[in-house]
Amino acid sequence: MGTKGRKEYVNSRSCFGYCNDCGEVHELPSGIAVGHCYALMAKLSAHQRIDFDKPLEDADPRLSTDSLYTEMRGRMFGILVCEDKDGNEIILRAFSSRHNGVWNVEGWVPPLVDEHRFVAEVELGNLDLHPLTDLIATLPRESREWYAKLAERRLVSHGILAKLNALYEIHNFKNEKRSLADAFHLKKGIPVGTGDCCAPKLLNYAAVHQLKPLSIAEFFWGKATASGHRVEGGFYSSCEEKCQPILGYMLCGVTNPIQ
Ligand SMILES: [Zn+2]
Ligand SMILES: [Zn+2]
Repeated sequence: MGTKGRKEYVNSRSCFGYCNDCGEVHELPSGIAVGHCYALMAKLSAHQRIDFDKPLEDADPRLSTDSLYTEMRGRMFGILVCEDKDGNEIILRAFSSRHNGVWNVEGWVPPLVDEHRFVAEVELGNLDLHPLTDLIATLPRESREWYAKLAERRLVSHGILAKLNALYEIHNFKNEKRSLADAFHLKKGIPVGTGDCCAPKLLNYAAVHQLKPLSIAEFFWGKATASGHRVEGGFYSSCEEKCQPILGYMLCGVTNPIQ
């Protein structure tokens, strides 16, 4: 991305959302976080792994950036610049979702859910879901029973998603804690993966640790998306479908972010 693109991103609203409680949009500027993102890109580029704080002999092969250049393609990374109670600058970094299946990596903020509880819930859900899927495969397509079992499977999977969503605890800067369903301000289904992007991970960590957010920026790293909408090194705003509906709540209580 050239200087022009960077300036446009810095001046654009990159992280924002509508807050139902205040009846207004809360936002956090990208400002100084952009420079820290460039420093992170340089590290990813030089080390080709996300555990670059460790010596090479201790590197975990799963944490190589190779997976970002396969058909799985790249992912978003983000930086949140904060200030602690004593006025020290704290730089937090996040990768979206899981890196090559790994949830928790030293030096990166953790996910909003407990990894083991999440995996246990998915496995429990699969016990209900898989027999139905197998049964559906044996039924004549478009028969009455086939439609009935499809509907049943849809209900079961909605139930599993609701249980997974209930594992998320979302904090804001007014010392509040809400479930995903309560934090999501739109009256529609919560997309799978909501809460797993960089901005929610970073803001939740800051809120829990009493850090004051100053600026945030998110960039894409790895093989470009199939659509070409995201390319390596490009900066992008928090996503509209998953992040924006919770960011208004999450940013509530943030005071005087610097521009
Ligand atoms: Zn998102
Ligand atoms: Zn608010």
